[in-house]
Amino acid sequence: MTVTTRFAPSPTGYLHVGGARTALFSWLYARKHNGTFILRIEDTDLERSTQESVQAIFDGMEWLGLNYDTEPTFQTHNFPRYKEIIGKLLQTGHAYYCDCSKEELETLREQQMAAKEKPRYNGKCRDAHKSQSDKTVIRFKTPIEGAITIADLVKGDITVANKELDDLVIARTEGSPTYNLTVVVDDMDMKITHVIRGDDHINNTPRQINILKALNAPLPEYAHLPMILGSDGARLSKRHGAVSVMQFRDEGYLPQALLNYLVRLGWSHGDQEIFSIDEMIEHFDLNDVNGAASTFNMEKLLWLNHHYLMHSEPSEIVPHLIWHLGAIGIDANTDKSVDLVELVKAQRERCKTLVEMANASRYFYQEFETYDEKSAKKAFSEGSDNVLSELKTAFADLQTWEKEALHDVVKNTAEKLELGLGKVAQPLRVAICGSGVSPSIDITLALLGKEKTLARLQRAISHIQA
Ligand code: GLU
Repeated sequence: MTVTTRFAPSPTGYLHVGGARTALFSWLYARKHNGTFILRIEDTDLERSTQESVQAIFDGMEWLGLNYDTEPTFQTHNFPRYKEIIGKLLQTGHAYYCDCSKEELETLREQQMAAKEKPRYNGKCRDAHKSQSDKTVIRFKTPIEGAITIADLVKGDITVANKELDDLVIARTEGSPTYNLTVVVDDMDMKITHVIRGDDHINNTPRQINILKALNAPLPEYAHLPMILGSDGARLSKRHGAVSVMQFRDEGYLPQALLNYLVRLGWSHGDQEIFSIDEMIEHFDLNDVNGAASTFNMEKLLWLNHHYLMHSEPSEIVPHLIWHLGAIGIDANTDKSVDLVELVKAQRERCKTLVEMANASRYFYQEFETYDEKSAKKAFSEGSDNVLSELKTAFADLQTWEKEALHDVVKNTAEKLELGLGKVAQPLRVAICGSGVSPSIDITLALLGKEKTLARLQRAISHIQA
């Protein structure tokens, strides 16, 4: 048996972290078992589904690297098949037409509520042999006796008596299938072996199992993942900060950091905190998923992001940095004046996100508008134009623009002028970066290059002399 899992989002909003974690767990389970992972777009709610959300799902999955093994499928392309199955259920006596009106059902509901009973359909049309009209829905004939036990791989056994479930609508008056029907048909046809999804679907599972049984279809295993909460204990939502996967990209997180953070939300493997993708695949098991809700901690994610910035191969970070430079108007694909691998190495210690890294790297590409006032006041004192002129002459004479040689120029200039190193390095730093914060001065000079260094020294000299 090939393990087959699916991620089945409804495209009614952005791909949020809860969905991404569901996708990740389904993907990991399939990868671990050399199985198949399917992306199924559940777009039957025509009013709420948008093309923009479909694209956000594709973009999010791609950015996270969660690849699927077949072309993504769309439920709206599968209506004939749903119709066929509904016909089969009618034919075999597992479904029936119901013409109870909205008003009738509302009155029933009110009566049940008043009697403190659970509102449910009373089965009025169940054996009434109604025929089809433009007023009839189709209901599934839920067995009256017995119970369904879900052997949930995360939550343990969950038993629900059939008498608790009413006869759910599987097709609306105009014939369109409902959620529980489409999921069942697709899970059956796609031979899904493990349904891994949020525990907000737990109430649907016994209903889906009953339909699968009526169709004589094999039952998949189920794993319902607990909710993700915000720091205040409420379900994670926009008011807690970023929740959409692409917003994490925009805010400067690495996909690997987000994946590592998500895998630890409700799953653990001993005390291990850091997992490469291969390690996740190797160790992941649904049995180790915690049944209780977990809390999203932005600080921990930020810590992980810094960890990945510090410890990844710089060349792996470069494409992400290029993207973020692009977001602030710097085209590093065209402007190749800066060695990006060296730039990452120089900046990553002090930057926790790629947004910080891009912003802190702006002056390597673009002339800054003004000097940071405080830094300039401190560094540009009387005589520092002379220091900068000395440096400029020495730099202009340099044949090789390399870290060691640049360091020597700064050191020799300080000795020649009988000044402490700081009295030379600080005006130099402000002259070339516009502020007093940068990586070490020799690395900064090396990255900036000779031409820009000389031009910025001249600008600072003129500024001081003005
Ligand atoms: N389309 C459903 C959702 O987005 C998921 C259905 C399922 O996984 O069975 O919540």
